[in-house]
Amino acid sequence: MPVQPESKMQTRKTAVVTGGSRGIGRGIVLELARLGFSIVVHSRTGGPAAAETMRLALEAGAAEVICLEADLAELDHGRMMVNRVFDHFGRCDLWVNNAGIAPDVRLDLLETTPQSWDKVLDTNLRGPFFLTQAVANRMLEGRRAGLYSQACRIVFITSISSSVASVQRGEYCTSKAGLSMVAQLYAARLAGEGVVVTEIRPGIIATDMTAGVKAKYDRLIEEGLVPQARWGTPEDVGRAVAAVARGDLDFSTGAVLTVDGGLTVARL
Ligand code: NAD
Repeated sequence: MPVQPESKMQTRKTAVVTGGSRGIGRGIVLELARLGFSIVVHSRTGGPAAAETMRLALEAGAAEVICLEADLAELDHGRMMVNRVFDHFGRCDLWVNNAGIAPDVRLDLLETTPQSWDKVLDTNLRGPFFLTQAVANRMLEGRRAGLYSQACRIVFITSISSSVASVQRGEYCTSKAGLSMVAQLYAARLAGEGVVVTEIRPGIIATDMTAGVKAKYDRLIEEGLVPQARWGTPEDVGRAVAAVARGDLDFSTGAVLTVDGGLTVARL
């Protein structure tokens, strides 16, 4: 589709949140809804969680909400989704790479399987690298055509696991450490092109992903692991993304924001 001048296109700001139907993704969607964005809730399979997130987003003030389904471990599905976003809205002001998985089973480093390694890295690292490549190219096409009056922004939701070693899920830590470098790479490449890139590293956040290890983390938090002494919430992460979305970090490309209640503060 040829890029059209801003006057002929929808000028309302558009955001995409991958894995936006539940958990941290939903928290991000709702904060962006409060800012009045048009929002794409990406989901692997749609379903009731996606429908509920869309309802809540409209209630919270989103201008328009659509749901797009894609398995982001499949590069073709990702590319098709990017095209569908631009076909529908003609623009993308903010892209949030949030979708990700933990290993199906937490196994000691000495037992990690190649199957789990491939699945986690395909989803958490290879997928977002190439998805962002497709998004960035479409953003730059629009920028060169004068479509945007402000910066475009890309956010990577990584994890404190980028730097904190958990020997029960080495493939997850490796994928997130890699994704942190991907964020730095895109920040460097796009800095001169009007696209701001931010990495957000959540700590222990209450979602489906951590539901299976709730008792363990309850105990660790009780014992002082998190200086601010509570679980994080999807809203905590959503508010950090909202700061990016408002443009508050526009001169901070490549910044790494931790949302971890101080967990990674070195202490003595
Ligand atoms: P979640 O399991 O509730 O949500 C993850 C979402 O990603 C789901 O909607 C899922 O369907 C989607 N997804 C996974 N693989 C996909 C694929 N191949 N294609 C399309 N969609 C896919 O987990 P969450 O806790 O909300 O996690 C969101 C992000 O935050 C993840 O990247 C996760 O690694 C990261 N994170 C979570 C925590 C935590 O404590 N919960 C901490 C740090 C980082």
